[in-house]
Amino acid sequence: MAENQGEASKPKGRTHNFPEVTSAKSRDAVATALKNPTTRAMVREERHKQKELIEKVVIDPLTGAYNRAYFSDQLRLAFHTVNGKVEHEKRQPYKTRLSEEIGLLMFDLDKFKEVNDTYGHNEGDAVLKKFTEVMKGTIREEDLFARWGGEEFMLLIRESHKLTPEEIIGMVERYRNAIERNVTVGSGIEQRSVTASIGLALFSGIDKDRVVLKPEDLISFADQAMFMAKAKGRNQAWEFGGLGDLRFGKPTFHKISSSDPSQRPLILKGRGIS
Ligand code: GH3
Ligand code: MG
Ligand code: MG
Repeated sequence: MAENQGEASKPKGRTHNFPEVTSAKSRDAVATALKNPTTRAMVREERHKQKELIEKVVIDPLTGAYNRAYFSDQLRLAFHTVNGKVEHEKRQPYKTRLSEEIGLLMFDLDKFKEVNDTYGHNEGDAVLKKFTEVMKGTIREEDLFARWGGEEFMLLIRESHKLTPEEIIGMVERYRNAIERNVTVGSGIEQRSVTASIGLALFSGIDKDRVVLKPEDLISFADQAMFMAKAKGRNQAWEFGGLGDLRFGKPTFHKISSSDPSQRPLILKGRGIS
């Protein structure tokens, strides 16, 4: 069997029995075939099946957001692009370094267990769908939004170096605010907002603290910043500000979005940290 396959792969001139067709002829043949409604329906069905299959692999079925596996792949790619550019620039000593950067935002819905316990699991599911709808309607087209698991979501901010610190702060505040205003549960006087705690980590391949980073580190930094937002009262966003002095193992965090307007303006400090 294996021998036969080896034989078949050797180029021995024309081995099939199909009539020889030029590309123009084959185009004509396809055009003729597509005039047939049955063929057209078959092609449509085939394309639909392919699309469904691709979606099954990359989309979370409950919310319609991208799933964790797809997000992880895309984050890895973006991460290596940043590192690749930095490596390339290092080899060009006379060129000014372009600092390429990506951002990772982690969202965790606040007191979501309470939502389920009070309104039921189906309402909880509806909140997850609504949250996704609100985020999809608010994010930049080039960014990637995904369900990380349970009530946790991620947003990959591509080419964040093109954004000023003020723009990043404004963007995060826009997300926090859009969630607070539009994601609700219950109805009438029972209706209440569902909020999210948000963590941001920026990565520019410039390893200020001399630590070799992996995409998982970036996820961990965003997670730690999100945890800080929880600890400080929820419905707010914090950024991971760097590992700090490694001898003492103390990372720093800064608040970048708050529901309390008296705390604004908030300043982004974690740029170029990792
Ligand atoms: P915190 O503000 O600290 O994040 O509190 P929390 O209640 O959101 O956190 P916790 O991790 O205790 O609870 C998360 C809840 O999310 C528990 C779990 O039942 C619920 N959950 C996870 N996935 C789903 C889902 O697909 N549908 C629904 N309805 N609930 C889910
Ligand atoms: Mg959680
Ligand atoms: Mg939660």
